[in-house]
Amino acid sequence: MAGLPYIVGNWKMNGTRAMLNEARAIDRAAARFPKVQVAVAPPATLIYRTRDAADIIGVGGQDCHAQESGAFTGDISAVMLKDAGADFTIVGHSERRTIHGETDADVKAKAEAALAAGLGVILCVGETEAQRDAGQAEAVVGAQLEGSCPQTDGAPEKLSVAYEPVWAIGTGRVPSVEDVAAMHKSIRDKLVAIYGEGGAEVRILYGGSVKADNAAELLSVAEVGGALVGGASLTAESFLSIVGAAASLAAD
Ligand code: PEP
Repeated sequence: MAGLPYIVGNWKMNGTRAMLNEARAIDRAAARFPKVQVAVAPPATLIYRTRDAADIIGVGGQDCHAQESGAFTGDISAVMLKDAGADFTIVGHSERRTIHGETDADVKAKAEAALAAGLGVILCVGETEAQRDAGQAEAVVGAQLEGSCPQTDGAPEKLSVAYEPVWAIGTGRVPSVEDVAAMHKSIRDKLVAIYGEGGAEVRILYGGSVKADNAAELLSVAEVGGALVGGASLTAESFLSIVGAAASLAAD
């Protein structure tokens, strides 16, 4: 898998203009970690201002609509995200899949629209606790990938996949390193099955309760190319401790 470790903060529905101070602090510190690719996905209201406040880090959306424009009240298109200064967008986060009822087909259309607009894509997949307990985790995630990976000629260079077990998001619980390794291998195999050899280059992130004290262990697992971080990305201090852990590993 090519590329620098990618550490992305998902601020979810958190942050008003005061949060730009965190973005500035993250951006300033990112200069000290050239071996790590750092990004944040603030709420859409802050994308433009975050881009303006930060020079080095990536700035992204948390979702996009599949259409370019039209009568979709409250939605934001990938073209609009790009216009606001976004470099990438998250699609298919479990909170979108669950709370907003997004299907794999919806997620696929969003990912394709984002790529067409020139954005990078972080496509989220992950099983529920019941699915894991039933021994279905790899099958569920494999089916999500089959249904939601963008259809392109070869593997999109700007695609990353984030494995986020739903039961680990915001709970303080994380899978064992063995389970993370097994799932990431299974995702890799599926990406190669979908895209051919280019599937070996798609970055696979882990997400779900990544914190300063578990980041190094999780980031050391084979096929883990970075982390999608929710709660611990809301202050520069906690987020940068994860970026620092990635930098130490990248320096080895
Ligand atoms: C997320 O929701 O993408 C996430 C990883 O959240 P947390 O780190 O808070 O578990």
